[in-house]
Amino acid sequence: MQQAKKKVAEKKKKKIHPLMRLLFDTHCHPQDDTCNVDLIPQLPVAGLCLIGVRDIDWPVVEELHSRYGDKVRAAFAVHPWYAHRRGSDWLEELEALLRRNPAAIVGEIGLDRAATTPDTGRCEHQHQLEVFEKQFRLAGRLQRPVSIHCVRAFGQFFEAVQQILKEDGKMALPPSIIMHSYGGTAGMMDSLTTMKQGIGSRFYFSFSPVINMRSPKTVEVIKHIPQDRLLIETDQNTPTSIEDDIMEMCEIVAKARGWSVEQAARITLENAQRVFDFPRIAPGPPEMDDDEGAFASLAGLHVRDDDGAKANATSNEKDDDEEEEEEDDSDGASSGWWVKRP
Ligand SMILES: [Zn+2]
Repeated sequence: MQQAKKKVAEKKKKKIHPLMRLLFDTHCHPQDDTCNVDLIPQLPVAGLCLIGVRDIDWPVVEELHSRYGDKVRAAFAVHPWYAHRRGSDWLEELEALLRRNPAAIVGEIGLDRAATTPDTGRCEHQHQLEVFEKQFRLAGRLQRPVSIHCVRAFGQFFEAVQQILKEDGKMALPPSIIMHSYGGTAGMMDSLTTMKQGIGSRFYFSFSPVINMRSPKTVEVIKHIPQDRLLIETDQNTPTSIEDDIMEMCEIVAKARGWSVEQAARITLENAQRVFDFPRIAPGPPEMDDDEGAFASLAGLHVRDDDGAKANATSNEKDDDEEEEEEDDSDGASSGWWVKRP
């Protein structure tokens, strides 16, 4: 028995890929597998971000994050599927949680027009929109990155971001905006990355084998992304699948971009570090609203010189509805997977 155990342990040890330590899973839910939570801090990855999707999920994510610090990152929010179930003080609770965890990000939040909730049998779009906007503004106010879930709602998402920008300016927006398991088109990506006032430089795009590789378009989209905005994730709900999935995603990215697997690992890690190692500044009123350079250095942003020019000219004139029809439905929400996998 002892020998058998030893063999299993040895086999497990040998199976660790030498590049695993360079991989950062930017979006996963391994805490859902309650019997295997202990395995989470042992994963041999560079880091992972546990995404808490509703209030009952938050305590375990907070506990793991506070124990395992920089390796086990945390995200807290109300997911659009649970928007209609929020309690009365949910926003205050979420803000308190984020304030006592200064390295935590906001997520996942968003809009999902394909999801009918089991409770009501409908798509609770108005609830989703209200909850999304409040959390997106909260992320802006606290200057925390966000992880976005957007399924067949690109037009509404784009419009909501534009509206907040118009009403309250760029300081009201989060410093980094990760489009998680991105299922949109290259055209939609361009609309985001060229948004005016330098906002385009805040968008990142993350991919998981479990969601994105069902669509043949994904590889083309990965080829199209600016190198410094590409992230990888698993969206897995058990720690036992994270190693295989994150390596698979890294290999897919390497192949699509013509990079070595090590290059893909290093590039996506560097991008993840840029997003997750945001400066933990005390949130306060904006001081330098009109000076992009000064704001960028304050909030650790990565504003690219070419943003402004590209941004103003084209994408913002686009017809949202037209974009929406173009949207890839590879998230497969209609097939029912989403009941288990936020
Ligand atoms: Zn998720």
